[in-house]
Amino acid sequence: MTLPATLGELRRSPFTEERLGSRRVKDELRDNLVRKLRAGETVFSGVVGYDDTVVPQIVNAVLSRHNFILLGLRGQAKSRILRALTSLLDERTPYIAGCEIHDNPYSPICRRCRELVAQQGDATPIAYLSGDDRYVEKLATPDVTIADLIGDIDPIKAARTGHELGSELTVHYGLLPRANRGIFAINELPDLAGKIQVGLFNIMQEGDVQIKGYPIRLPLDVALVFSANPEDYTARGKIITPLKDRIGSEIRTHYPVNLDEGIAITTQEAWVTRDGHRLLVPKYVREVVENIAFVAREDKRIDKRSGVSQRLPISVMENVISNAERRAIRNGEDHVVPRLSDIYAAMPAITGKLELEYEGEMKGADNVAREIIRTAIARTYDLYYEGVEMRQVIQWFDLGGQIQFTDTAPTTELLQQLENIQGLLDKLGAVSVKPKDSAAVQVSAAEFVLEGLHAHKRIGRSEERVFMAGEKQPRPEKRPRREGPGEDEFFNRNRRPYN
Ligand SMILES: [Zn+2]
Repeated sequence: MTLPATLGELRRSPFTEERLGSRRVKDELRDNLVRKLRAGETVFSGVVGYDDTVVPQIVNAVLSRHNFILLGLRGQAKSRILRALTSLLDERTPYIAGCEIHDNPYSPICRRCRELVAQQGDATPIAYLSGDDRYVEKLATPDVTIADLIGDIDPIKAARTGHELGSELTVHYGLLPRANRGIFAINELPDLAGKIQVGLFNIMQEGDVQIKGYPIRLPLDVALVFSANPEDYTARGKIITPLKDRIGSEIRTHYPVNLDEGIAITTQEAWVTRDGHRLLVPKYVREVVENIAFVAREDKRIDKRSGVSQRLPISVMENVISNAERRAIRNGEDHVVPRLSDIYAAMPAITGKLELEYEGEMKGADNVAREIIRTAIARTYDLYYEGVEMRQVIQWFDLGGQIQFTDTAPTTELLQQLENIQGLLDKLGAVSVKPKDSAAVQVSAAEFVLEGLHAHKRIGRSEERVFMAGEKQPRPEKRPRREGPGEDEFFNRNRRPYN
């Protein structure tokens, strides 16, 4: 179907004046939402974990034709949800061609368009916007000005056109008027200076604003949506009260509530499909990566007010796969299977995303990150091996056995060494790894077990990734022992009858 090119054609098309003449953006969002709900469609595709919490509240806000704000810590998909609102806009929206503020052909608000329609009538040319064209986003910062947001008097334009300063024909429009008939999203609203908030409020309330002292009338049609950190938003004096009053709904976002939801988000967002290599990410690797975020969010040394973004596990996962990819390339292997050592190699994706409290600063980002990884490993290990007997494996190390996991060692060689550790490979069934699985899969799983034992301080590991006997724990029961220091539990137990 070819779209109507003039106002006359538009009147005779499905874009009738009756339908579009007085329909506001919020009506349009509402209409399309109602249609989606009736059809049983997903309202926001690609938004995971909010089905029972955030999404119903947004649906209510849109049905109520509210301006609304999402309150949440960083990395809680706030911007993504706001952007997803474009899926509730019409596919094509007609406007008067050439209009900077996308005037409605049936009810233009700018003088240029009113004069154009008066002169040309049904011959007035029409152009179209897609839903994406109608979304304008701005990160609030303290240096945002009225000129950026609303507009400025352009003296050159005034001189050239012969119009008076302060006439709307001499205004250079800012972002908000350019979002007319669309959605305008302001992220981190509290960072906007008070004066600008007042300007915003005046536009919302009256459609009036003063630019450099000249009153300008701009009855804009915009759905305003915002995001903010909850503490900043509720802090006294950060948001002018009349503006707060005009925000119909405050909706709280949150981090994934359980590991599976976190994994689902990370799996969806992380860039994992790399060319040229078969990739298999073991489930326990995904779980450790996700647990890093969960552990960090609980860690006292990390700033609670800024939170731990979901971008952390996403970036970690990407780095983990890259490190495994690098190893596979170097060793000429076509099968990329990440291991837990790849997670330690992903430290650069962690340290920068943690806002440390004083105590954490003292300890250093690297040390905090390493401890968090270790706790995440211990938790994940317990999902599979809590209460599972590992004495035989620990004994092998206590007897002096050592094994080094290096990135340069070919996987098959490592597997041969691992076979010497009695009882280790037998335990891999718990993570669904069988003897006929590839060497890369078995090595990764075996390393998971060893890292788990290390995380629980039952075996040791050096900086060079040599697993070895752990430091001796003081024994709980005191009894005379004939063995010298360094003898292990295995012998103690076997000799007990002779004591
Ligand atoms: Zn116009």
